[in-house]
Amino acid sequence: MQESLETLREEILDRVAHCGSEPELDHLRVEYLGRKGRITLLLRGLREIPAEERPQAGEQLNRLRQLVEEQLEARLAELKAREKERILREERVDITLPGSRWERGQIHPLTLVMDEIIDVFLGMGFEIARGPDIEDDYHNFEALNMPKDHPARDMQDTFFVSQERVLRTHTSPVQIRVMESRKPPLQIIAPGAVYRHDDDATHSPMFHQVEGFMVDGHISFADLKGVLTHFIRRIFRAEIKVRFRPSFFPFTEPSAEIDIECMLCGGKGIPKDQQVCRVCRGSGWLEILGAGMIDPQVFRFVGYDPEKVSGFAFGMGVERIAMLKFGIEDIRLFFQNDIRFLRQFACL
Ligand SMILES: [Zn+2]
Repeated sequence: MQESLETLREEILDRVAHCGSEPELDHLRVEYLGRKGRITLLLRGLREIPAEERPQAGEQLNRLRQLVEEQLEARLAELKAREKERILREERVDITLPGSRWERGQIHPLTLVMDEIIDVFLGMGFEIARGPDIEDDYHNFEALNMPKDHPARDMQDTFFVSQERVLRTHTSPVQIRVMESRKPPLQIIAPGAVYRHDDDATHSPMFHQVEGFMVDGHISFADLKGVLTHFIRRIFRAEIKVRFRPSFFPFTEPSAEIDIECMLCGGKGIPKDQQVCRVCRGSGWLEILGAGMIDPQVFRFVGYDPEKVSGFAFGMGVERIAMLKFGIEDIRLFFQNDIRFLRQFACL
């Protein structure tokens, strides 16, 4: 017995010392100290040995059990410490490395200008309405006083989706849709994308408009002038000169185009170097809006009585206003997504 215990002791100590992981250690614990472990079985077998040898054998076995428990604990602590060291070594962070930079995006210049335009009108009590980009012929042309053979249709190079459907050439159809479904008083702006078959430095096949209109019992041209003058002075600057010039649109009568003084030459047409101003081409004025009193015929299309209501409508190109505000000469820059261009608007 004495000898076999000694062999067992050495075997155990050797295995514990060479044990390389926690699961392995658990395995050893079960093998020797578990319910059917070798030491457990030996302890259980004590009752079968002669009574006079029992106390000594018991003491030796208990001492062995205690030693094994201690050795297992010690080895476990060792393995844990080693693992911690490994983690610290392998996962060390080099705080002297330069950090990775996060590129921060910014709002697109057109969105900036669009938001600014909307803001000014919301401040005057206008509400926002939207309509479909794919529009039917009736809302895009017919109800805006442009019957099928009307020459004004040629002014807008139209993308046809089918015989009866087009990509809307302006945001004016929203005006019709709102008036069809609601009664005055109305004070609406309709921002959105519009489409025309046109592509050069100042025209893009897709661009943005903000349409606006106001309808009530006694709306006059003076209201139109007041609202638009206020708008222009908020968007550009307080003292800018504004000019209302007679024009023609099929859906307004009378109609006007609204000009502001040229920002490059200050309205003089010829800047200091005595060359004709390239922005206004010498006129001293820049057109930025079309507007007018809503044509009685348009009111009839939506079931309003032109004897009882009156109103004005206006429309503007967002790209044009952004180009003037930021001094951008090519509309295509807005849509090329060149990060060097877009970044310039980061701090606005
Ligand atoms: Zn000019």
